Amino acid sequence: MTETNKEVRVRFAPSPTGYLHVGGLRTALFNYLFARKMGGKFILRIEDTDQKRSIPGAVEKLMSTLKTMGIDYDEGPDVGGPFGPYIQSERKDVYLRYVNRLIEAGAAYYCFCDEERLDKLRKAQRKRKEPTMYDGACRDLPEGEVRRRLEDGEPYVIRLRYPREGRTVFDDVVRRKVAVDNSQVDDQVLIKSDGFPTYHLANVVDDHLMGITHVIRGEEWLSSVPKHIFLYRSLGWELPVFVHLPLLLNKDRSKLSKRQGDVAVERYLERGYLPEALLNFIALLGWHPPDDREVFTLDQLIEEFSLDRINRAGAVFDVDKLNWMNGWYIRNFDVEDIAERARPFYEDAGIDVSDREKFVKVIAVARDYVSSLDEIVDRGRMFYEELDFSDEQRALMAEEDSKAIYARWIDELSKKSEWSRADSDRLIKETMAELGLKGKQYYFPLRLALFGNTHGPDIPTLVDILGVDETLRRLRRAFDMS
Ligand code: GLU
Repeated sequence: MTETNKEVRVRFAPSPTGYLHVGGLRTALFNYLFARKMGGKFILRIEDTDQKRSIPGAVEKLMSTLKTMGIDYDEGPDVGGPFGPYIQSERKDVYLRYVNRLIEAGAAYYCFCDEERLDKLRKAQRKRKEPTMYDGACRDLPEGEVRRRLEDGEPYVIRLRYPREGRTVFDDVVRRKVAVDNSQVDDQVLIKSDGFPTYHLANVVDDHLMGITHVIRGEEWLSSVPKHIFLYRSLGWELPVFVHLPLLLNKDRSKLSKRQGDVAVERYLERGYLPEALLNFIALLGWHPPDDREVFTLDQLIEEFSLDRINRAGAVFDVDKLNWMNGWYIRNFDVEDIAERARPFYEDAGIDVSDREKFVKVIAVARDYVSSLDEIVDRGRMFYEELDFSDEQRALMAEEDSKAIYARWIDELSKKSEWSRADSDRLIKETMAELGLKGKQYYFPLRLALFGNTHGPDIPTLVDILGVDETLRRLRRAFDMS
C-alpha cells in the first residue's frame, strides 16, 4: 500500500464538539487499526481553530471517551510527543509563518471585502442558482494598495489564490482516481479576520509538520482535497496518501443524523453498550473482513485490517445489528466481568447488590434477553424487590393446588439451611408425584411465587439465586395470599 519505507504516521483530528460522533469513532478506529497493523504511530490532534465553536471541557471528554473505548494514541495533547503542541489553538504562530510563505509565492492574497459585501454576493449567486463562491474582487489588487490598506489597519482575511483553469486529478485509496474542475473550487479563506487559521490551512500545515503519511477520514472531506493539494504543492511539500471512508447512513439511506437516533458515542456507553461491542460494530461500517466472520476482538481487527478492504458504498448504521451484537457480547463475556459492568446500573436504580455471589447469579440469568446493560436492571430487580402481583396472579396463588405446593416446599425448606440444586430437583419430582400435578400446573404457581411471573428461569435456579431464607419468605407470602 505504501510505496515508501517511511514509518506510517496517521492521525485522528477531531474538532471538539462536546461529544464523540460515531462517525468520528469510526475514523479514529480505522486510523488506529492501520497504525497498529503497520507498526506505525497514531496521533491525536485537536482542531479547535474555530473559536466560536469551542466548548470548555470538550477536549478532556474526548480523550476520556477514546480511552474508555480502548483506542490509545502514541502522541497527543495529554501524552505529548516530538511534534507538539497537539492542540491547534496553541500553534497559531506556526500557521502565520506558512501563510506568509504562501503570499510571497503568490498562492494566497489579502482580501478586504467586508461581511456585508460577501453577504450580498452570496445572495445574488443563490438567486442565480450558482454555487456560492468568492468572486475574486481582491485577487488582483495592486501591491501598493494592499500595503496601504494594511497600514491603515483595515480588517482583512487571507485567501487561497486557487487556479481558475484546468482540473485537479488525484488518487484516493477508496475512491481511486478523483478529478475536480478547478473552476468549482473556491478561493478558500486561510486566515480569518480574528487571525485564526481555517481548518484547511491548519490541517495541511500540521499534517506536513507532524509527518502524516496517510490521511484517513470521512468522505465529507473529499471535496477539500484539491485545496489541500494546492497548499502542499505551493509549499513544496510531499502529498500524503488519501483514504476517504464511506459515508455513514441511516436505515433509509439518508446521511446519519441526530434526528434519527443517537450519534454520540457517550450516549451508547451511558446506556450500557460495551466498548468492545461498539468497536466491533463500528469496524464493520465500511470495512469488511476477508471471510464472513462478524465477531472480532480489537487484536483480531488489527490482525485483519487492511485499507484495500474499505468499501466505497455508504455504510448503514443499523441499530438492530448493534443491539444484536451488544447482546451477544453481554451473554458471551465472563459473567463476573458483566456483573461488574452492570453494577452501576443497579446502584443507580437504588438496588443494593453488595452480596456479590448473589449478584453474579442474578446477572447470569438477567443477561439472557438484553441488548444493553440499561435493560439488565429490569430483568434482575425481582430478585431484590418485593414482588407485585395482579389480581389474576393472586387468584392463581390462592388456588388449593398452589397452596399445597407452597406448603410442601415450606415444610422441606424450613428444615434445612443448606439447599442445593439437586435438593430442588428431588423435591420437584417428589411433590409432583405426590400432588398429582404436571408441567404448568406445578411450575406456574411456584415460579409466580418466587419470581413474580409464570414464565422465567427454572425453579432450581430461582431457589439458588434467592437462597433458603428469601425463598421461604416468598413462599410464605404466597401461601398467605387469598
Ligand atoms: N477537524 C476535522 C473534523 O472535524 C478533521 C478532518 C480531517 O481529518 O482532515 O473532522
